[in-house]
Amino acid sequence: MLGAQSENCSFCGKPASKTGKLIAGPGGVGICDACVATCGRLIERESTRDNKAANTGPTLQPSAKKVALGPVKLIAPAALRHELDAHIIGQDHAKKVLSVAVHNHYKRLNDRLVQASGEKGAEFSEVELDKSNVLLIGPTGTGKTLLARTLAKMLDVPFAIADATTLTEAGYVGDDVETIVLRLLQAADMDVEKAQRGIIFIDEIDKIGRKSDSASITRDVSGEGVQQALLKLLEGTICNVPPAGGRKHPEQQCIQVDTSNILFIAGGAFVGLDRLIARRAGTKALGFIQGGVIAPNLTAEQVLAGLQPEDLFSFGMIPEFVGRLPVISVLEPLSRETLVRILTEPRNAPTKQYRKLFSMSGMNLEFTPDSLNAAADRALELGTGARGLRTVLEGVLLETMYHLPEAAAGSLFTVTAEAIRGEKPVNITAPKSHHKKGA
Ligand code: ADP
Repeated sequence: MLGAQSENCSFCGKPASKTGKLIAGPGGVGICDACVATCGRLIERESTRDNKAANTGPTLQPSAKKVALGPVKLIAPAALRHELDAHIIGQDHAKKVLSVAVHNHYKRLNDRLVQASGEKGAEFSEVELDKSNVLLIGPTGTGKTLLARTLAKMLDVPFAIADATTLTEAGYVGDDVETIVLRLLQAADMDVEKAQRGIIFIDEIDKIGRKSDSASITRDVSGEGVQQALLKLLEGTICNVPPAGGRKHPEQQCIQVDTSNILFIAGGAFVGLDRLIARRAGTKALGFIQGGVIAPNLTAEQVLAGLQPEDLFSFGMIPEFVGRLPVISVLEPLSRETLVRILTEPRNAPTKQYRKLFSMSGMNLEFTPDSLNAAADRALELGTGARGLRTVLEGVLLETMYHLPEAAAGSLFTVTAEAIRGEKPVNITAPKSHHKKGA
């Protein structure tokens, strides 16, 4: 016992003989060592809570004991490209650019692991590799998302899609940018380590342009504000992710995620970009634009060749944001021929998917060559790229699929061009054995 006034702990009441130490205070009070330890823990817990609430809310730390993931197994760009070919028709430039960017991205990740481990001596060990986030420019339904998704699947890393138009600057109605990291975390079953090497596809990036500053006195919270907020994520930061999504609030528990090894692929249509580039090229070449109008029809290659950062600024992209997307590719609009190939060639081609569905009911489905052309024509009219193909086939096959279980087992359903155009129903041929039975 330290001091002589108290015989019992004034907090828990234990006698001095049953405690290791009893510290005496003024006025005859005393406190035992066990109660001191309990008070210490309480104070620590309270002060941590106060600190976190003052900042961004307490953080849920990933388990420190968790074994860190090792280096990523690198896949050569050509092998990545080969696999992309099995799923995506055309878009050669985008495939090449993405294969190289993804390969280099994971090289960089492995290099960072080596640097973090403190290993030195290798050539260029002082050189830090920059992040190679990608910007895909191209009309809707041309394969931007599919390319990103296919790469993530190949690499077996988590993948998330975010729509830039749902985001707003923190504190305003809409989702904080951290919710896009939450999606990735969810795709990784809330495994922070795995999420930190995933891929995020941000769609509709061209829709978060800076609003013209002349007309409005309100803050541009869904345009420049979002770009500013995204900048940090793209570059690499430790962000506090609210597990419930939406907007962060101070008392909320947050999960810390480091975005420096997350690959961001941004996609946008940038409608009118080709016209802009053609006009500049035309103006330079001719000195004026004939009739004030120019019908560009530039190929993706020409758009890419003529693209300058200022062109993206004119869509309201801020220079710092464009700077964080150093790798750029332009996707081709899909021609009728490409649409026909998309219907039949990819591993998950729409016609293969419907044939599978029919075969699961014991039926056969076929498409005449004419029907493929007709479907491509209708999809072109819809103007939603290859997405339109699915819409067209779904509409044509709806009735048939509704009555499928009632058809004689083994029936053959033939989709013709007339069926696609809605002039005739899908043709049904009963199985031979059924003919005999009926005859
Ligand atoms: P977006 O360019 O708008 O991101 P998506 O990648 O989401 O377009 O494409 C929509 C759908 O269209 C995909 O699921 C895919 O089935 C199909 N598709 C689009 N482009 C291609 C392509 N080049 N090759 C094969 N399928 C494609």
